[in-house]
Amino acid sequence: MKRSSVLAFAMVGGLAAVSLALAQTKPEETEVWKPAVPVVAPAQDAGGAPADAVVLFDGKNLDQWVSALDKSPAGWTVSDGVITVDKARGNIETKRAFRDYQLHLEWRVPANITGSGQARGNSGVFLASTGPRDQGYEVQILDSYGNATYVNGQAASVYKQHPPLTNASRKPGEWQSYDIVWHAPVFGADGALTTPANVTVIHNGVLVQDRAVLAGETVYIGKPSYKAHGPAPIKLQAHGDPSEPISFRNIWVRELASR
Ligand code: MG
Repeated sequence: MKRSSVLAFAMVGGLAAVSLALAQTKPEETEVWKPAVPVVAPAQDAGGAPADAVVLFDGKNLDQWVSALDKSPAGWTVSDGVITVDKARGNIETKRAFRDYQLHLEWRVPANITGSGQARGNSGVFLASTGPRDQGYEVQILDSYGNATYVNGQAASVYKQHPPLTNASRKPGEWQSYDIVWHAPVFGADGALTTPANVTVIHNGVLVQDRAVLAGETVYIGKPSYKAHGPAPIKLQAHGDPSEPISFRNIWVRELASR
């Protein structure tokens, strides 16, 4: 602290604040230069992975994924740079576990989608997988282009907790993107919840969840609640509805510094 500022602090009450303000007369006094901001090379193409991202699917294989049921190799179909859900094989999840992160993924409802409501292109991304089936925190994936369902179950909802702020859905057959910022729940040493999870979601460039605070893990019936867990995989849902399966591409994640 500069000598003039120290002297100002020695004074009392409002006079001290006025003196401190007067003592700072140069713009440089409020400039911050260190530590330097880390450089991250952005992708050349929209949807591409920045240089510091963990690429979870680059169009080639499912090496970063396993079956959520038994940790065997993920059995969904990879063709022409695209993953397509194999409903018979169940959910898949990342080999790696994550805490707080930025996630990008792209998904497509088939143009020939059939069904209605929740049985029309249903999938989902579980932001922290806490079990082999639908345990965790689901951001819904569904055809919500003119397809009515309960609003806290449509595309981009935090399933059964938060409807999206807007419906930014594209038509079946068109690629759609989610950009998600996930802050995992924090638990104390005794397993009690310290800080609930929150999530921000941008759907096709439109803000649809703005730091939405979660009441707990997603449940189909009843009220959500928390149970303690650490870093966890990211999971994609093989929903059991009879409509045509959806596809994914360009999936990457950037881990955020733990709080
Ligand atoms: Mg779903």
